[in-house]
Amino acid sequence: MRKITREQVVFAMDKENKAVLTVNPGETILLETEDCFSHQIVNDTDVLNDDFNYSRVNPATGPVYVNHCQPGDVLVVKIEKLILDSQGVTEIYPGWGPLGKQVKKAETKIIPIDDGMAKFNQIYLPICPMIGVIGVAPDGEAVLNGSPGNHGGNMDTLDIIEGVQICFPVFVPGAKLSLGDVHALMGDGEVCGTGVEIRAEVNIKVDVSKNTPLSNPVLITKNDYFFINSADTLEEAIRINTEKVVQFIQEQNSLSWSEAYMLASIATDLKISQVVNPLKTVRTRIPKNIIQNSWPK
Ligand code: CA
Ligand code: CA
Repeated sequence: MRKITREQVVFAMDKENKAVLTVNPGETILLETEDCFSHQIVNDTDVLNDDFNYSRVNPATGPVYVNHCQPGDVLVVKIEKLILDSQGVTEIYPGWGPLGKQVKKAETKIIPIDDGMAKFNQIYLPICPMIGVIGVAPDGEAVLNGSPGNHGGNMDTLDIIEGVQICFPVFVPGAKLSLGDVHALMGDGEVCGTGVEIRAEVNIKVDVSKNTPLSNPVLITKNDYFFINSADTLEEAIRINTEKVVQFIQEQNSLSWSEAYMLASIATDLKISQVVNPLKTVRTRIPKNIIQNSWPK
């Protein structure tokens, strides 16, 4: 299997980034990922220093150039396997999250991972490994890996787990996919600004779809689609995501807009992904069984 090591990282999704691997659609790749702090916090006594640089957060492994993948296509990434390191870290830092003003100094909690459980003091929590940063190169300005957008990036969406497919609009030839910022565990919102940040090995399979144009990332799970959108405020992210969800339901079911708005209200779930990044991210769960047309299953 083709492999990219965790030294081969970028700190922004950028069309100018040089691909470190070229693959064909249908290929499987192993990507080693670095944790969001580049493995500089490995003991409880390690903390982020005062000149923490947000432009050096979330190293993402890649980018991968996918042959036969052109602007206007959709890149489909199947997350086949997620294997975690044996410990992760959760950090608080002044200014981070809704209670950031109450955080007077950086503090670290090292969280051992053993036998499928994360150990927080004496509390054992089942792990739910997920990918925080995954995306393609945008067509305009580079986007730092601290931020999400229509290209993906730092979406911190806890459904991006083993077994799902995630679809991205393609903006540049080859798509230039990269990923990192794996969490052993995270809650919706990610309120203190970090999950259980951890190194990982991620197996993915990449494919290209020519038939289903997208303007934002869409997650496909066994039973659901998730539309994911980000904006300056939660309210704006909610408005944009709902607009796209209603349009999707309308088009796929040949309904009126009014009916699609009603169906969205009674059959879909709006969820907060994260409230701590420069843009805030929401997602809407759309059950596959309310979509009548043959959208990819
Ligand atoms: Ca993140
Ligand atoms: Ca993170």
